[in-house]
Amino acid sequence: MAKEDYYDVLGVPRGASDEEIKKAYRKLARKYHPDVNQDPGAEDRFKVINEAYAVLGDPERRAQYDQFGHAAFDDMGPGGFGGFGGFGFEDLGDIFSEFFGGGFGTRQSHRPQRGADLRYEVVVSFEQAAFGLETDLTIPRTEICEHCHGNQAEPGTPIVTCPECHGSGQVRFVQQTPFGQIATTRTCTRCQGEGKTFDTPCTVCHGSGTQRKTATVKVKIPAGINNGQSLRLAGKGEAGYRGGPPGDLLVSVRVKPHELFRREGQNVILETSISFVQAALGDEIEVPTLDGNVKLRIPEGTQSGRVLRLRGKGIPHLRGSGRGDQMVHIKVVTPTKLTAKQKELLREFAKAGGTDLPDENKGFFERMKDALR
Ligand SMILES: [Zn+2]
Ligand SMILES: [Zn+2]
Repeated sequence: MAKEDYYDVLGVPRGASDEEIKKAYRKLARKYHPDVNQDPGAEDRFKVINEAYAVLGDPERRAQYDQFGHAAFDDMGPGGFGGFGGFGFEDLGDIFSEFFGGGFGTRQSHRPQRGADLRYEVVVSFEQAAFGLETDLTIPRTEICEHCHGNQAEPGTPIVTCPECHGSGQVRFVQQTPFGQIATTRTCTRCQGEGKTFDTPCTVCHGSGTQRKTATVKVKIPAGINNGQSLRLAGKGEAGYRGGPPGDLLVSVRVKPHELFRREGQNVILETSISFVQAALGDEIEVPTLDGNVKLRIPEGTQSGRVLRLRGKGIPHLRGSGRGDQMVHIKVVTPTKLTAKQKELLREFAKAGGTDLPDENKGFFERMKDALR
């Protein structure tokens, strides 16, 4: 039977780059590796794939093969590459460790794992957000078991170095193949990769090494924090697994809306109403601020919509010093209910300014007649 062309074996064109060959080989080796593929014939196919890669994956041997075909290696005897003195399987070791060193199934979960991050929302008032606060959060989380300190074994019972892997957590398999040895490393099944074994699991955590707890975590919310911002408390999340570090606690801050104030950047916005008399003549009024009531001077002739600034009465800067301002938006209110006396005075006022106002006691049509007269 004619030997299958190595390029056909790997399914690559003759001009394929080294990278393409390597990629094709990895894909096929993964598919036909006897540890993975239980089909009869998979192992033989795996050998052929390896043989093809042993040649095409090496520039010198590939050149020879391109020139002479299988004849280039005829002197090596049936299926044997002995003539090359057992080449290149160290490189394959890398590839197999990629396949089996944790890439498959659940084996990876036996390594130390970082604990999960926890999220927590804290609701604060407008003032608390402005000036900061220190508070205790009560959070359910996974912690290292207090009974066994994460060792997983019942205290006082022996924990021994795994006799299978001698504590390394990994077992090396050496496979004999027609063209040399292939060594693969796998997680030790006896100790699940931990390098130690015990007979009596911890009676509190049942051997997991962790416990669910309700923890109290102190958190300092800095002055100036804004709605939706979050704080990361390193290492305050879930405990790690198998000696891994804990996760973080992410505290997101929600600021309750204030009944008077609104925030715009570092500034506090307040809307306040004044009468048209105050607007016209000027006045001094009291307005609320984050620091209590303060006096605000309304200048003479203030128009509705004018914005008056109270320096330094805003929100403190989250990082750094100083505060924003309070911006007071002035709304001038036109009166809706006036006494007869007030109306009379206003007409006088209008007259003094050169504007004649219609007499309220005359009806609309009468006023029209007056106008046309
Ligand atoms: Zn325990
Ligand atoms: Zn072991």
